[in-house]
Order: sequence, then structure tokens, then C-alpha cells
Amino acid sequence: MRHQLLAAAGVLLMCSGWARAAPVDSVITEQFTRLRTYVERGSAALQTRTSSAAPFPVTQGKAYKFEKVAEGVYYATGGVGSNNVVIVNDQDILLVDDGTTPATARALVEDIKLLTDKPVRTVVNTHFHYDHTFGNQVFGPEVEIIGHEYLRNAMLNFDVLHREPYLTSMGTVSTRIAGLQKQIADEKDVSRKASLSKELAAAESVREQLKEVKVTAPGRTYTTKLILHKGRREIQLLFLGRGHTGGDTFVYLPQERIVCTGDMDEGARVAYMGDGVFDEWIASLDALKKLDFQLVLPGHGVPFRDKAVITAFQSYLSDITSQVAALRKQGVSPEDAAKRVDLTSHKKDFPDIQGPGAEPRGVRRIYQWMDEREKR
Ligand SMILES: [Zn+2]
Repeated sequence: MRHQLLAAAGVLLMCSGWARAAPVDSVITEQFTRLRTYVERGSAALQTRTSSAAPFPVTQGKAYKFEKVAEGVYYATGGVGSNNVVIVNDQDILLVDDGTTPATARALVEDIKLLTDKPVRTVVNTHFHYDHTFGNQVFGPEVEIIGHEYLRNAMLNFDVLHREPYLTSMGTVSTRIAGLQKQIADEKDVSRKASLSKELAAAESVREQLKEVKVTAPGRTYTTKLILHKGRREIQLLFLGRGHTGGDTFVYLPQERIVCTGDMDEGARVAYMGDGVFDEWIASLDALKKLDFQLVLPGHGVPFRDKAVITAFQSYLSDITSQVAALRKQGVSPEDAAKRVDLTSHKKDFPDIQGPGAEPRGVRRIYQWMDEREKR
């Protein structure tokens, strides 16, 4: 599973915008390198930047690592796709998101048995992107899957297997496989060849896992707020406005003062922007900051406590939007704008920024969003 993980880098990281323009091949290489570093170093660098928390107690499963962040609340990392939150209630479990493949969701459910023998009864999808929802199908009718009404509509009607962000990720896995096959053929060193072959097998495994995906939308939806009472635990699902997509949910535990942000805020990582609604995104994050919480559990990255981390992302969003607007006004194409924007002044908050440029799908989306606004 660990090797599958490394191989799954393209899949795992697609929901976060990479922070500089680069040719596709180098982007893919960079993604794999970043994931390897992330897995092997336990994301230590990002942890120091975003988390002032003492390390949480850890339970290590076969595939997932669980950090106990509060009584019965675990932050689960190490699968294929999003990070997940496991909320163990008096009678049952609520999961926040379930990863990119049915296999990773099954591995999560299996590893959860190390924490409790209570059954999973509820899954909340924070937003419709594949890396948060494609595990949905492994749950039977006894499990209620809940998402914002926009999310259900998106999963049913957006043809999510043939659109971004999934499309590029599938292409990335295939490109990775082709690249590895070539590298293996050219490699003379026996041990290097063996390790490349392991990576190839893992990447092929992820490609196989993805073939099993049947897009499964939530059976229950809400529009602005849904409060669940699970035994003594109160769990609030909050829609605070559009942002990363048209229907993102914050999962808020008022008693524990914990909020799960999905990809609305990923701490020290710049989120994928291909479905962004940029002005509302900034406003929704303002609403988020008004909640009373002491810990944020993001859909990617690492937990953090400081609201200034959220402000830093708002500032990034506002900067990229105004830079792109200026370039668009000059008649620059989205592709060129993606190369020309310069967000390096945000590098202290987002260490992945290594030079000028931004993820092209996000910049294209800013153009499209501005076109839509002008038509209104
Ligand atoms: Zn996402």
C-alpha cells in the first residue's frame, strides 16, 4: 500500500494546485517527488509551518495513519486521495470523505478496526472531487452518505469521470506508467531497475483500482446547515458560501471546537482552483474564521490551529485573482497568464511556490469566472 501510495502521487495531488508553471512531464515528476518526500518525512516541513500543536497520539494501520486529535476524533492520512476524519460516536462512526478509489476506502474501513469495533454509519463528502468521493461505492445501504445538494447534482450530471480534475489525474497515471516503462527499459543498474519496477507495479495497481470506480452520489443532501446528533456528539454540516467548488461542506464539531475544511483551505498548500468561485471563496473563508474552533483538519496537508493560515490563503486568492484580471484586460491568453503571474511573495506561507507561474487549470477558471460575471 505504501508503494501504491507513492505511485498514486498524480492522483493524490491533483486536488491541490501546483504552484508554478512547468512542462507537464516535470510537473508529474515534481508531484511524485513531492509525495515521496511528504510520505517519507511525515510532512515535517509543512508541519512546523502550519501546526503549533504538540504531536497527536498515533495509531498506525496497514495503509492509514490515525492521529487522535480529540476524544474519538482521528485524522486519517496515508491513503490514495484526500485525508479523512474518523469521528467515533457513542454508537457508530461518521467519516469525512473517503478517498480516490474503492480499494483505499476499503483499506480505511479495515484499518479503523484498530480504533473501534463500532460500524461506519455516515459518510460526509466535503465536495464532489474524485479524491474525496470515489470511495463512496464501498458502503452499503446501512451507511448514509451526505453532501451539499450542489455536490449531488455535480456527481450525477457533470460527467465527473470525463472532466477535470479527474481527467488530468488519469492522464498523469498513464503518463507515469509509460515513463517508468521507458526508464526500466533503459536502466542498466539492477537494483535501480528493481525499485523502478516496484513503482511501476504500484502505479499499475492504482490504474486498476480506478477502473472499479462507479460514481456514487450521496443519498441525502442539505442546503445551508444540517445538524446531526450522534449520541452525545453534535456534528454540524455547514455551507458557508461557494468557494473551492459550488457546494463545499465544513464539518464542524462545536463541543470539540474542531472544523474539517475539505479543500476550502489546505493550510500551507494552495488548493486546486479549477472549479473556484473566487470572490465567494474569500468571503466563505471569512465566515469560516468567525466559527469558534481551535483546530483545523484540512482535506490535504496537515492539521493547524492558527486563523492567520486561512488569512494567508485569502490573500493568495485575492492576489492571483487581481493579477490574472490585469493580464486578461491586456488581452493575454490564459495559458500565458498562467506563466506570467507571480505569487512568489506568498512563498513563506506556501512553500511549494518555487517561482513565477500558477497552475493553468486554475488560471483558466479565473478567466471563465470573470467571463461569467461580465455576462451577468
Ligand atoms: Zn478538491
